[in-house]
Amino acid sequence: MNAGYLIDMDGVIYRANQLIPGAKQFVLTLVESGSPFVFLTNNSSPTPEDLSVRLGHLGLPGLSPRHFYTSALNTAEFLSETHPACTVFVIGEGGLLAALHERKIASDAIQPSYVVVGEGAVSMEKLAKAHSFIEHGARLLATNPDNWCPVSDDGTRPGAGSTAAFLEASTGRRAYYLGKPNGYMFHRALRKLADMVGGTRPENIIVIGDTMETDIRGAIEAGLQSYLVLSGSTTLDAVAEYVYQPTRVLNSVADLIEELASGKPSSRLDSPVFQQARSVRPHPGNRHQTDAEHPAKSRPRPPMTR
Ligand SMILES: [Mg+2]
Repeated sequence: MNAGYLIDMDGVIYRANQLIPGAKQFVLTLVESGSPFVFLTNNSSPTPEDLSVRLGHLGLPGLSPRHFYTSALNTAEFLSETHPACTVFVIGEGGLLAALHERKIASDAIQPSYVVVGEGAVSMEKLAKAHSFIEHGARLLATNPDNWCPVSDDGTRPGAGSTAAFLEASTGRRAYYLGKPNGYMFHRALRKLADMVGGTRPENIIVIGDTMETDIRGAIEAGLQSYLVLSGSTTLDAVAEYVYQPTRVLNSVADLIEELASGKPSSRLDSPVFQQARSVRPHPGNRHQTDAEHPAKSRPRPPMTR
């Protein structure tokens, strides 16, 4: 089986600082199979080195930094390819600053060509500066479109998308969003995957992720296979709401261990989740008939990305 894998991390490999059951065996089997793989994350805070250490602490030691590709690296590559002499004002953390530094993109707090928004590091002072730079001609770039990110089983934190949305509202300018599902993220990740096996792209590329708007949509638009796992942000019932559908739906990456070890992929209808009974009930959608009639009902959480 000549396959390569692009694998999301949060909700696929771990959740809230714990490995998802079966994820360790899955990664070990993947390493043993010799298939090239890259972990693909929209989180722009960590460096590949940070992620390798983090997975080591969670029980997966020995993964080299070259196995990780983040939206911060994608943003730095995008700028160095399309506008190498640019300067940037950054709202973001270590992973983004390191990636830009590595690509020799200069920081500029006087007249930047871009305001680059990543995860975290927000303050009203920084937002006010960024607002003023955009008003004076800087372009607005975000590392990823995620409005929120899971931090525990029942909690989230604001993501880069929500910081960019603040600046879009205050300046009236639209941001350009890198990271998944942007095709540039997949284009660069595929190149990285090909480099791992001597420059030839594997015939069959499989994207594994838990989020429809980023992982699955991006995979489909890049012409790749998409495996949705239900160990993260998406429930089986929610899948039907989307225009685009994953190639396969799995409970978790644990479902792939056997076929990876044997080298025999199963077909879509063999996906374990399709053997489970589904409740048949109408889909009212995320809407209220009127706000006035349901004053006490809380609003549904907005989609992870726009
Ligand atoms: Mg995820």
